[in-house]
Amino acid sequence: MDRQQEFVLRTLEERDIRFIRLWFTDVLGFLKSVAVAPAELEGAFAEGIGFDGSSIQGFARVHEADMLAKPDPSTFQVLPWRAEAPGVARMFCDILMPDGTPSFADPRYVLKRTLGKAADLGFTFYTHPEIEFFLLKGLPSDGEAPQPVDQAGYFDHTPHSTAHDFRRNAITMLESMGISVEYSHHEGAPGQQEIDLRYADALTTADNIMTFRLVMKEVALEQGVWASFMPKPFTEYPGSGMHTHMSLFEGDRNAFYEPGAEYQLSKVGRAFIAGLLRHAPEITAVCNQWVNSYKRLWGGPGSAAGQGGEAPSYVCWGHNNRSALIRVPMYKPQKGHATRIEFRSLDSSCNPYLAFAAILGAGLKGIEEGYELPAGAEDDVWALTPAERRVLGIQPLPQSLDEAIRTMERSELLADVLGEHVFDFFLRNKRAEWEDYRRQVTEYERRRYIEVL
Ligand code: GLU
Ligand code: MG
Ligand code: MG
Repeated sequence: MDRQQEFVLRTLEERDIRFIRLWFTDVLGFLKSVAVAPAELEGAFAEGIGFDGSSIQGFARVHEADMLAKPDPSTFQVLPWRAEAPGVARMFCDILMPDGTPSFADPRYVLKRTLGKAADLGFTFYTHPEIEFFLLKGLPSDGEAPQPVDQAGYFDHTPHSTAHDFRRNAITMLESMGISVEYSHHEGAPGQQEIDLRYADALTTADNIMTFRLVMKEVALEQGVWASFMPKPFTEYPGSGMHTHMSLFEGDRNAFYEPGAEYQLSKVGRAFIAGLLRHAPEITAVCNQWVNSYKRLWGGPGSAAGQGGEAPSYVCWGHNNRSALIRVPMYKPQKGHATRIEFRSLDSSCNPYLAFAAILGAGLKGIEEGYELPAGAEDDVWALTPAERRVLGIQPLPQSLDEAIRTMERSELLADVLGEHVFDFFLRNKRAEWEDYRRQVTEYERRRYIEVL
């Protein structure tokens, strides 16, 4: 047993922890959990805990169902919302096949593989997500409109509101689990919150995002409200994005930073952006994986700020341009190491492991192939006419899950990054979601047609 594993076993005893939840994530980004007793842990560290992979979305077919969940001791944390003693802790797991090799279906492994590729080129990938979500008065029953907890807007400081207590409790809980929070505020729509996590390597960030969603839901339940990461719950308000700031480091040097270059952006940084731009349409199905995601990206006038309520609809980059898919934030001279780019299409309900793998894969491709960065868009791209956008070579992002799937199908890059198993399962599952959606006759259609037609 290694030192981290010993530390976990010692802590269990010292803190009277009797349940250890082993966590992993299915291909669609849902958290899975199995609780084991402390006595089982030595075996779990050595070989993993067996489970039926065919019952997990995207993992295995029935005839090859046996899989193993092997806990990663570096992710050990006590769950603060469970009573002190006997306590409950969790660890994220790697998923293995019965012969001990990594499972190709495990999203964590998909990300690790791409991070390994970055490491071969000498890079570490750092990310910092700005996670938006809604707080609702409760879970609406079928057909009922959801009720936001307040009527506040961007940066509003409301005296004694649910949102205030919520953010304080939620952040305290995240911090006690080792997840640092940088900023938090009320977002643009009623009931909408944003919490920004501090920079971490992408695997840690993805684990943290999974924990974050659960913590938000737990704290909301404690306060008698409901937290939802649905990308666009309201027609009339902006949706919930997960803008992600990112950079590559070589050792402790920011590889995106070059003093004196335009926007202090190095050749590596420019090629990374170029890769992300060129491959953005084909990775959109992974970054925006639900039918509803496209109502955020193309949601109509969500706010004065733009078409989708500040969600990007077009493939372009800009320096501090909030209508662009990729923004290079304003440079602060004293902070060269903070040079980064912000990717803005991601939504809060993506599978973070797969999305980060796809983004990194696209960026690395730009670096490896030496893609040239096209000119930045300094205009508000929503305000341009289609003809103006055409002249500038600005393409739209896919406008529906259907279009995103069709674009993904042709992507060699994504087949390579996700691996054949995840690539095929994902496409099959998303096609089925689209088929199911497009058969629905909606309230909108009845309202619009039944009387006049
Ligand atoms: N809610 C907007 C989105 O869906 C982002 C607002 C902002 O933080 O700029 O991306
Ligand atoms: Mg925001
Ligand atoms: Mg942002």
